[in-house]
Amino acid sequence: MLAIESVDTFLVDLPTIRPHVLSMATMMRQTAVFVRIRCADGITGTGEATTIGGLSYGPESPEGIKLAIDTYFTPLLLKADADRPTSAMAMLGRSIVGNHFAKCAVETALLDAMGQRLGVPISELLGGRRRDRLLVAWTLASGDTAKDIAEAEHMLDIRRHNIFKLKIGKRGVADDVAHVAAIKRALGERASVRVDVNQAWDEASAARGIAMLQDAGCDLVEQPVAAHARGAMARLAQAAIVPIMADEALTGPDSAFDYAAAAAADVFAVKIQQSGGLHAACKVGAIADAAGIGLYGGTMLEVGIATAASAHVFATFPKLAFQTELFGPLLVTEEVLAEPLQYADFALKVPDGPGLGVTLDMERVAFFRRDADRKSFHGGASAQPAGD
Ligand SMILES: [Mg+2]
Repeated sequence: MLAIESVDTFLVDLPTIRPHVLSMATMMRQTAVFVRIRCADGITGTGEATTIGGLSYGPESPEGIKLAIDTYFTPLLLKADADRPTSAMAMLGRSIVGNHFAKCAVETALLDAMGQRLGVPISELLGGRRRDRLLVAWTLASGDTAKDIAEAEHMLDIRRHNIFKLKIGKRGVADDVAHVAAIKRALGERASVRVDVNQAWDEASAARGIAMLQDAGCDLVEQPVAAHARGAMARLAQAAIVPIMADEALTGPDSAFDYAAAAAADVFAVKIQQSGGLHAACKVGAIADAAGIGLYGGTMLEVGIATAASAHVFATFPKLAFQTELFGPLLVTEEVLAEPLQYADFALKVPDGPGLGVTLDMERVAFFRRDADRKSFHGGASAQPAGD
């Protein structure tokens, strides 16, 4: 039995490089919840949870995640065996329903500590990695067609991304499709152009929109209708030639199985937090594989810690036909890691050190903590970040 000595959680607010315009929110900043679990052998594991636009995307918020971990997870973790992360997570699962994002952050910290203890990367604890590089899509979401084209051209020039996902669903179908078509025309065969509707369409609009997107050269349509509209997703997936991807609908192995059984998607966007943790995300991947459904490595716009955790999971997938979107750390102006993740030649290098293979820069993070005493840094007015 290896005791857990302390569980520390804190919120960090990081500005985004530009407004990130989605159908349900415009993000001006990203908030990360970091979890630090210190074990009796002196090893500290780190985890991270983020959401998209506060509570606008899903049922958990950064503030709620911190509260849940402090109030409900920590007393249980202080009785858990740090040497048995899977048993510890099962014990938490018996007492805590839902709270997938919080569970993912805690599991990440436990696996990070375990990996450091054993001297192996988390990808090895999850069954072994199949690849060291993950191709990474970039999301164009400035809300402006000309700006998006300029941003894509720049990404192609510096060889950082050649897959672009456009966030649509906020405007009318025809306007949205015109936006996508203009970008695809500008980029041509140099890039893959895909869209994420974030559940904004009804089935009839989706049927019309998907047909138009197909003609515009779009390669993938993500969550065109509401997550609960499994029948509509199945009909759309059956009718369309362009692959239809489920994202918000996939909240863990159970919903993944339902979607697979109903043939309600051609592709699954796997997300570690939405799935309920790293092992749960691996199970979603296995269900997709068994059903002949393609895989895509999704993001909740996590920063360095949870992006590394996601990379370890996606590196174990036998197939990853639709690549990943692990660009979260690049969307914020500030680096939180001691050594940044490496992006080059359109790909992210999967860290290969023990555990996550990355660590927080605690001094930098201290500056951006929501509870930081800003006066001690600025010698004056408080710099609390503004709301979204
Ligand atoms: Mg999505």
